[in-house]
Amino acid sequence: MIAPGVTALVAGISSIGWLQPVEWMTLDLFFRSRPLEPPDRRITVVTITDQDITNIGRWPIPDDLLAKALSHLHAHQPRVIGLDLYRDLPVEPGHQELVRSFTSIPNLIGVHRAFGLQKVPPPPVLDQLNRVADASVPEDDDKRVRRALLTGKDGDRVYQGLGLALALKYLEKEQILPLPGNRPNTYQLGLAQIEPFRGGDGGYENADDLGYQLLLNYRGSDGAFQTITFTEVLQNRFQADWVRDRVVLIGTTAESVKDLFLTPYGDESAGHTNWTPGVIIHANITSQILSAAQDDRPLLRGISGFSKHLWVLIWAFVGVGTSWQLLQANWVHKRLTYGSAIIGIWFVSGGIVVVSYLFFVNGWWFPVAAPVFAVNCAAIICFAYHSYKLQHFAYFDGLTQVANRRYFDLHLARQVYRKGNLSLVLCDVDYFKPYNDTYGHPAGDRCLQQVAMAIRRAVRWKDFVARYGGEEFAVIVPASDAKTAVHIAERIADQVRQLQLPHQASKAADHVTISCGVATVEINAQRFNSGGWSGSDLIAAADQALYRAKAEGRDRVILNRLE
Ligand code: GH3
Ligand code: MG
Ligand code: MG
Repeated sequence: MIAPGVTALVAGISSIGWLQPVEWMTLDLFFRSRPLEPPDRRITVVTITDQDITNIGRWPIPDDLLAKALSHLHAHQPRVIGLDLYRDLPVEPGHQELVRSFTSIPNLIGVHRAFGLQKVPPPPVLDQLNRVADASVPEDDDKRVRRALLTGKDGDRVYQGLGLALALKYLEKEQILPLPGNRPNTYQLGLAQIEPFRGGDGGYENADDLGYQLLLNYRGSDGAFQTITFTEVLQNRFQADWVRDRVVLIGTTAESVKDLFLTPYGDESAGHTNWTPGVIIHANITSQILSAAQDDRPLLRGISGFSKHLWVLIWAFVGVGTSWQLLQANWVHKRLTYGSAIIGIWFVSGGIVVVSYLFFVNGWWFPVAAPVFAVNCAAIICFAYHSYKLQHFAYFDGLTQVANRRYFDLHLARQVYRKGNLSLVLCDVDYFKPYNDTYGHPAGDRCLQQVAMAIRRAVRWKDFVARYGGEEFAVIVPASDAKTAVHIAERIADQVRQLQLPHQASKAADHVTISCGVATVEINAQRFNSGGWSGSDLIAAADQALYRAKAEGRDRVILNRLE
């Protein structure tokens, strides 16, 4: 019951998005902890750095220099060039030259921003030639980039993202084309099975999954790709095989231009904001698609829907099992430390992180915060339940389930300091020894259980029923005068009679009966001041009354008023 309950609780908390930031943080941590992969040899990034802009002396880069760089790259026969710069407007001198380059380099793809609030149009020539891709980068609410937009729709037109466009162009030469997958909206691209991101995948809750998105399975930030600076390209100072037959992306990494994004690689808590340039993100998208299609490197997929709840439920069961087992073990061996249970839950939480990490390395995003939260909630509930059980053991009688003598003493000690009337009823089963002798001890036990239940039926909710001794019960009747207490005692005797438990050996009746002694006291200032007043006076008085009830023939109620 605890495990499904906690799973439902976690589902509720997740659905309002409270766990999402923690899920993101753990995913980011997984990315940073993963061993670095070697740079992708299919991709080279031409970076425009702050130094390059200083060298050129102006920004944006004039069209003649851009045309020159493109011709230098083109000369070394890259398979495809992605120009990740917004060039919708001419930047003289040399605009005609750039237009000629755009036309004459057939494998060049330019960009525009087709989506979002601020749209940027594409270079007009490339638009006419149908060689533009979208360069928008979807950010999460915490401004980090964890998803790629593969395609998006603007009205009737569908735009490919730059990363996808470059990958598809690259794969054309390998005769790898996207084919429809075995389910709707999925694609087979070489070895890769591509499925669209859904808003509830992995640690996401109700994310915007418009268009065709993919969880980014980063190869890395800076250093994950071969780079050449723009100045080196202008001066032809780069190795030809860095460009030949590769995807070449051109984009800015300059701080001053601010085409920078937060990714899992920027760890602010460690003191350094590591901005990732947009062009490196596009390179990651291209690399992710290429290596999935050609090398069978896993894409990143998040579990969703029912499997997500099942994942939490399984861990909730592990959490309940672990904490309960450890609490019980300690109970049996009389080592009453909660420490081992707490350490056990830490181990389970650590286990969740380890298992999720192993899944992550294999391309699956399993939530971490949700099951860790569930396990800890389950443990807290187990602790509470265990402590409740211990308390029950300490204060209640195992056979009859009414308060035990210890609890009775505590309760009475509290009552004697309240001003006003206080009454006590002591009940003793008549001829119980003969009952045991006639019907056996187990039957005697069952008889006591029924008598206890009858007493509970007879009293009011504020009266306190306890098993005072073997077959003696005591009822504390607070704030009540003698008349009320006697009335309650009569009701008890009546309820026991009504049980009609046969008792051949009784000399009082042919069924089980009970005798009650009632004592009442008025607790006033005088009694307080006299000192020495305590609950045992009341017990003694009730005991006297009970003795008289026995002596006068049993099965009756006798009152003893305390002066
Ligand atoms: P009386 O009418 O004078 O009360 O006679 P009695 O036989 O009930 O006398 P007494 O109170 O001395 O007897 C108590 C008996 O209750 C003794 C014991 O065998 C029995 N008894 C005490 N506790 C238990 C118990 O937990 N289970 C059972 N079956 N019997 C118990
Ligand atoms: Mg008795
Ligand atoms: Mg007795």
